[in-house]
Amino acid sequence: MNVSFTDLGLCAPILKTLSNNKYEKPTPIQAQAIPAVLAGRDVVGLAQTGTGKTAAFTLPILHRLADGKYNGKHPLRVLILTPTRELATQINDAIWTYSRGLGLKSTVVIGGVPIKRQQRQIAQGIDILVATPGRLEDLISQRSVSLDKIETVVLDEADQMLDIGFMPAIRRLLKLTPKKRQTLLFSATMPKEIASLSNDHLTDPVKVSVAQVSATADKIEQTVVHMDPGAKPTAIFKLAEKHPGKRIIVFTRTKRGADKVAKRLNTEGIGADAIHGNKSQGQRQRALDAFRKGTKLILIATDIAARGIDIPDVAVVVNYDLPNVPESYVHRIGRTARAGASGLAVTFCSPEEVKLLRAIEKVIKMPVPAMNADGSPMAAVVANTPKNVGKRRTPTRDGKPAKRRWHKPRGEGGKPAGGSRRRGGGKPKAASA
Ligand code: ADP
Ligand code: MG
Repeated sequence: MNVSFTDLGLCAPILKTLSNNKYEKPTPIQAQAIPAVLAGRDVVGLAQTGTGKTAAFTLPILHRLADGKYNGKHPLRVLILTPTRELATQINDAIWTYSRGLGLKSTVVIGGVPIKRQQRQIAQGIDILVATPGRLEDLISQRSVSLDKIETVVLDEADQMLDIGFMPAIRRLLKLTPKKRQTLLFSATMPKEIASLSNDHLTDPVKVSVAQVSATADKIEQTVVHMDPGAKPTAIFKLAEKHPGKRIIVFTRTKRGADKVAKRLNTEGIGADAIHGNKSQGQRQRALDAFRKGTKLILIATDIAARGIDIPDVAVVVNYDLPNVPESYVHRIGRTARAGASGLAVTFCSPEEVKLLRAIEKVIKMPVPAMNADGSPMAAVVANTPKNVGKRRTPTRDGKPAKRRWHKPRGEGGKPAGGSRRRGGGKPKAASA
């Protein structure tokens, strides 16, 4: 696919902004989605993080808004719903960047900040509202916002909104917008609840997708290190030491866990901040800014806090705890290797977490290669499963680990190897629960 932004039919001011921002050509999702959005169609976009989804919907929306029909007036015509406050802020920043010279107004409506200022901004007239569902519903119930002039609704990171429990609110909000509207739905995965949302609220959508749901970015090197839970604090410290000067995101399952890891690293003299739902909006924003600027190179985050946030040049993603939902693994490691760079994803796996690891391997359709704690590869020994009976069990001829085998996808529908494979390098640790 070799189209340019000019081919896609965007207006001159937008093209100028793109070239000023060194966007040379559209990403695949942009090349597919932009013409459909410009044509007024509903769109379902399926793409991993880092594929340029934000611009894929923002650019054509801005083009359509910039027609000059409402010169000087700013009726609320576009609503963008996102799962998290950070993502809302980030999308609004992107809108500011992309809409230079178009005379449009946009604002964010999120919880955790005073409602009064938001009410004032809305009262002054805005074209685009970027919102998290909770605060938007508050504003609507106080009659500070009306959705009856809405022309386009965007549901960004829909699967994450589902995870947080926003589906009922989203359905309620959609009902408050005109029936005759354009709806754009973007998601990294397509669980059945999202498919049914799309069925119920979208009209003959154009489906665009750029990667298989289960695919993890090819440029991410993935490894798992098996260890006892008690070994994790030391392991994260060692890992940080091993990657000096590089940005690292560490995912924990709980808010408390995030704080503990941050505290531990800070006592070791390694600057780290934690972001999660119990931090104030200001704290989260400061942590993100420090991480972006590189004054603190380690960010500890829970899944919800980190979702959708675009941070450039993350070298390493660490799964300090395994996620409960296998799809979160795909999202987490998508934080690295963005926009074509390569990255490393390291997973700390305790014996109790092995079954979560197997569920992930099933989703990504490949085993995650195991490493020793010091980063050296583990010799892979293929165990005596019925499938392998009669095959050579010696890993390799030259004594090097049989790494290849681990990259081979297991057959569809094959049993997730819960306890059926064993790790080499001495202790067979695959204590499947
Ligand atoms: P997603 O929403 O899919 O996670 P984003 O829209 O946040 O992805 O884009 C990821 C990064 O790539 C952002 O930093 C964005 O500025 C950049 N980007 C998006 N589209 C292009 C493009 N066509 N050319 C260069 N950079 C781009
Ligand atoms: Mg996005």
